[in-house]
Amino acid sequence: MFIFKSKPPLLRYICVYPKHNLCRTLKTVNPRVRFAPSPTGYLHLGGLRTALYNYLFAKSRGGAFVLRIEDTDQSRKVEGSVDALIQDLEWAGIECDEGPAKGGKYGPYVQSERLHIYQEQIKKLLDNGSAYKCFCTERRLNILRRDAIKSQKIPKYDNRCRNLSQEVIREKMKAGTPYCIRFKLSSDCLFFDDLIFGGIAYDVSINEGDPVLLKSDGYPTYHFANVVDDHLMGVTHVLRGVEWQISTTKHLLIYKAFGWTPPQFGHMPLIVNPDGTKLSKRHSDVRVEDYRNNGIYPLALVNYITLSGGGFDHVPGAGVRLKTMEELAKEFQIDKVSSHPSRLNPDLLEECNRLEIKRQLQDEELTKTIVTKVQKLVTEKYPEENLNISEDHVRNVLNWSTSRLTRIEELASSKFGFLWILPSNTVDVNKEVFEKLINTLEDISMKEFEQNCLKDHLKDFSTKNGIKFPVLMKMMRSALSGLNEGPGVAEMMQLLGKYQSLERIKAVMR
Ligand code: GLU
Repeated sequence: MFIFKSKPPLLRYICVYPKHNLCRTLKTVNPRVRFAPSPTGYLHLGGLRTALYNYLFAKSRGGAFVLRIEDTDQSRKVEGSVDALIQDLEWAGIECDEGPAKGGKYGPYVQSERLHIYQEQIKKLLDNGSAYKCFCTERRLNILRRDAIKSQKIPKYDNRCRNLSQEVIREKMKAGTPYCIRFKLSSDCLFFDDLIFGGIAYDVSINEGDPVLLKSDGYPTYHFANVVDDHLMGVTHVLRGVEWQISTTKHLLIYKAFGWTPPQFGHMPLIVNPDGTKLSKRHSDVRVEDYRNNGIYPLALVNYITLSGGGFDHVPGAGVRLKTMEELAKEFQIDKVSSHPSRLNPDLLEECNRLEIKRQLQDEELTKTIVTKVQKLVTEKYPEENLNISEDHVRNVLNWSTSRLTRIEELASSKFGFLWILPSNTVDVNKEVFEKLINTLEDISMKEFEQNCLKDHLKDFSTKNGIKFPVLMKMMRSALSGLNEGPGVAEMMQLLGKYQSLERIKAVMR
């Protein structure tokens, strides 16, 4: 951190320097990072990205990943959201080393359980003159705000209580006047090297009055608790969303007032829709829970995030390769995280999920779980039917469907209903032809009851019996699936197996 001698031009941000602190970070070992969500609802894609990149950064360098719950704004707290959050993180494969459920030597990890710590720390700033008591009423602050807006100025506190005499303060305290504690903002233009964006310089006092550190109800504000906790928890790197970048120089001033060495900061860009528009939290798709309920696998989601956010060597034209969590951690490079908005490409999510299904089907244990899942899905979908869901059949279907399926749930859709239940539509078939067909099919050995051989047999049959191949296929498709479209007839027969195929063909003769 350094301070400009003279004020920089009136700009909100000046990003002028390349990332020269990176060399230091690239060599970092055993970093301590944290994910510090507020329990105000569900975990969204943006939050998951922050948690994931912190986790990967820690794991790539033998460091620790800490979960800290920032619940100082009690009015926004949503019951049950901490548990849901921990569950979502675990589902995604992000295990914390320290946190509310896990414990750790820097706890408690929930800010509302650390109020005594903030009370203790604020005394240091009051004693060294960096903070002061402010007795301004809500009414006065509102008037200030209103007047500023009227005269088209930036609404900010006028720092009136900064210079109250000791006597006035004593009197107000004696009278029990409520007060908060504010931080004396200096007009230093602080500079820091953002690990992702490069050099950032900003003079907070241009746009803000002295900020509140401790509210009149004894709760700290986000800024104060965040700085105190990051310091006391030994956090070495703060990786968070770009919306917090504007607050960082304010945090640096607080570190300076305490005489503490600040961590290094890196801010991650916004996540945007494919067309570049802002991702709305209200859009149900961005809730991690919704991805889970929609049949997206955690590793697919995690890979999808990294594909749009960067952080890895990119081999042009190499296509999508699904990486395990260990591979992601090993290959993660903070200097490769992009500072441009991360554009989501939902096609990549689908591709990642397909690859994950394929990966799971190469593992016997995971395959068993999928088989059970399919049996359950199909039974729920067709509770009344006499179903064909033997393990062998489900495995067959799964092997066949890997390149077709994006989600396992699709197997319970009506498109694939023919795989599990007998078709209910009766079709008009040429009984004479079908009689002969049954005989032919019965003669085909189990070994030859396979797509390519079947196709040859059927072609042969159509020629010998003088029935046009497309006509035969139409009748057979209808008998086998009750559908007009779908996979090829021979393919369908291979999937259903000899016994089922014959059963269905015989059924239309009755
Ligand atoms: N509690 C803040 C949030 O909800 C954390 C910001 C930070 O990481 O400093 O995003």
